[in-house]
Amino acid sequence: MSTELYDITIIGGGPAGLFASFYAGLRDAKTKVIESTNELGGALVHEYPNEVLRDVAGFVLITAKKLAENFIEQATMYEHAICKNETVSALEFDKATKIWTVTTNKGAHKSKAVVLALGTMEKVQTKSKLLVESLKKNGVKINEQGIAVDATMNAGMPGLYACGDVISKAKELNFISMATAEAAMAVNNAKKYVNPEADTFPGYSTDIRKDKPNYHTNPLAD
Ligand SMILES: Cc1cc2nc3c(=O)[nH]c(=O)nc-3n(C[C@H](O)[C@H](O)[C@H](O)COP(=O)(O)OP(=O)(O)OC[C@H]3O[C@@H](n4cnc5c(N)ncnc54)[C@H](O)[C@@H]3O)c2cc1C
Repeated sequence: MSTELYDITIIGGGPAGLFASFYAGLRDAKTKVIESTNELGGALVHEYPNEVLRDVAGFVLITAKKLAENFIEQATMYEHAICKNETVSALEFDKATKIWTVTTNKGAHKSKAVVLALGTMEKVQTKSKLLVESLKKNGVKINEQGIAVDATMNAGMPGLYACGDVISKAKELNFISMATAEAAMAVNNAKKYVNPEADTFPGYSTDIRKDKPNYHTNPLAD
């Protein structure tokens, strides 16, 4: 069991989880990512690595594999803990300490907030049946489309957020640019939950943390 307490634990290492991870770094949150497979990238690497995407904001065209590499590079510019080959089977919230216990096939993790980025409910029902049961037991509302969230991406419990294909929304909203926007919203609200004096919106990346030498090193600069 890992007793080290994290601010934000992100479950799922697809586009939503990886962008949430990057954003959590931007917000100075002590972050852990738990991914059930041995490779980060989610559907991009496991379902259609050689397809060309033409509808990702800012990219005229890019292969799924290359886009996954970019997501991973961006997510891992911060020193987050990344656990691969580890499947989450249960979540439990201790009301007294306000700490989440995240149980996996390898042990347990402790976190102040949790972001669920698990992929479509169809896939989750197959891979993470136990987790779905555990969430339902906690009172999280789940239907065929996914997990119900409010405008802050909160899933109905203190410090529990969800983003990407796993949330309940129309099927046509399951696409990458949407998942990443939701991931940023989930993390901003998780940060505010963990640290109530923090702003929900951190400012633009062009404005903040210019004092940090490793922040957004510009590869185009001389
Ligand atoms: C064939 C296909 C083509 C597509 N083409 C496009 C396109 O052209 N443009 C576009 O914008 N979108 C496209 N999409 C949709 C896009 O891939 C998804 O919207 C995107 O992957 C959602 O990201 P996500 O992180 O929410 O989910 P996913 O990418 O599914 O990632 C979820 C991750 O969570 C992990 N996970 C699940 N359960 C657990 C658990 N219990 N414990 C630990 N880890 C867990 C999974 O292993 C996975 O890595 C396509 C999808 C498919 C299937």
